[in-house]
Amino acid sequence: MAFDYDLFVIGGGSGGVRAARIAAGEHGARVALAEEDRMGGTCVIRGCVPKKLMVFASSFRDGIAEARAYGWEVTAGGFDWPAFRARLDAELDRLEAAYRGGLERAGVTVFDTRATLADAHSVRLASGRTVSAKHVLIATGGRPFVPATAAAAGVLTSNDIFRLDALPASVLIVGGGFIACEFACILNGMGVKVTQVYRGEQILRGFDREARDHVAEHMRAAGIDLRTGCDVARIEPVPGGSRVVATDGGEAVFGKVVYATGRQPNTEGLGLEAAGVKLGKRGEVMVDEWSQTAVPSVYAVGDVTDRINLTPVAIREGHAFADTVFGGTPARADHGLVPSAVFTRPEFGTVGLTEEAARAAGPIEVYSTAFRPMRSAFAGRPDRALMKLVVAADTRRVLGCHIVAPEAGEMIQLAAVAIRMGATKEDFDRTVAVHPVMAEELVTLRKPVRTA
Ligand code: NDP
Repeated sequence: MAFDYDLFVIGGGSGGVRAARIAAGEHGARVALAEEDRMGGTCVIRGCVPKKLMVFASSFRDGIAEARAYGWEVTAGGFDWPAFRARLDAELDRLEAAYRGGLERAGVTVFDTRATLADAHSVRLASGRTVSAKHVLIATGGRPFVPATAAAAGVLTSNDIFRLDALPASVLIVGGGFIACEFACILNGMGVKVTQVYRGEQILRGFDREARDHVAEHMRAAGIDLRTGCDVARIEPVPGGSRVVATDGGEAVFGKVVYATGRQPNTEGLGLEAAGVKLGKRGEVMVDEWSQTAVPSVYAVGDVTDRINLTPVAIREGHAFADTVFGGTPARADHGLVPSAVFTRPEFGTVGLTEEAARAAGPIEVYSTAFRPMRSAFAGRPDRALMKLVVAADTRRVLGCHIVAPEAGEMIQLAAVAIRMGATKEDFDRTVAVHPVMAEELVTLRKPVRTA
């Protein structure tokens, strides 16, 4: 049977775009891609990219104070959100165009419309037209999850923050994960009075405990009213915002309430189950290590599969899929030792096992130091950086590295290379320090602070 296309990709985010470009541009496949929203998906339009630009924008308040300590005669004015947002919008337009241009240059046909799966080899466009394809890739990503009562109260999500016309004077952020902590720090840096409530006993569940404590301490020191073991009991609209009653009995009015309570896969109404694609408990597409679904011609990559929900992972999955199916070179995306960074202030970079997980797996040595970096010490700031290595006592291999410090994301990328190569603690020790930089502490950690 002749198909209209070799590949039809549903979703123009990081994973879908990479798969389409590689399949068409490098392997000569006839590819179409449908995107119902803006090209680029969560990362480019309403995630990593605008978030990081907001991180930069929010850093200047401290930067100006620091500049004064270094002898500069500067005075901070106010933060002009509309001016920043206009520039942000223009940058996102530029990036969206670049994504679209990349697809066009690779010869991909783009449909700016919603598409759903009609059967194992066909896709229905919103217009009602059906097109056939030998393979279909589901790359529809995810969206914020908000509990029903909060949704009914009209709370905001991270999607809405980028679209605000004006910054509120005060905000309540609910949640203790990546997004909640990052936006608490960003908005705090922009001069918004931030309260954050998290239902558990410490933010950033699943990360290294010592690093979590370190981040939380610095967030509080920066002025964020972070309340753990606390959740929202009731939200009611009042003039100028929302009155929130918390489970600890506290009550206050906030200009805005933002829920960052996780994300869920975008699989609703896509026709997946009717076509035989199996979904998991959270609605995620179930795939094997080749990203293949229960229907052999249908694959899925990225957040819609709810494996590791990070852009570079979705890109790897999309690339591996295209090489396997169209390039004749079978490749599986490797989900081990994935480094990541949480863009709090200070940043938190991490790779490998937490101390807690490593301890459960075998005997370990923990090397850790918290110190005042030269730059902030000179400026009279109290911040401390945390550098930590978790080492297997028997093999000497470094199992995990956790850094809380300015630019920790940059540092962890390089530590991750060494750790992926199987570096031992002695390899770190043999590496000569770069002086004077914060990361030199990673190669000068002499004595374990704990063994277990
Ligand atoms: P996370 O899963 O990281 O965090 C969700 C938070 O919301 C947790 O603290 C969770 O609490 C809490 N929560 C969940 N349900 C409820 C509820 N019903 N009531 C109150 N609290 C609730 O999700 P995020 O939305 O922060 O981020 C989604 C994913 O996006 C991340 O896991 C990450 O993969 C990716 N991401 C990556 C970034 C980066 O690389 N820098 C930045 C942003 C996102 P509990 O811990 O108790 O379950």
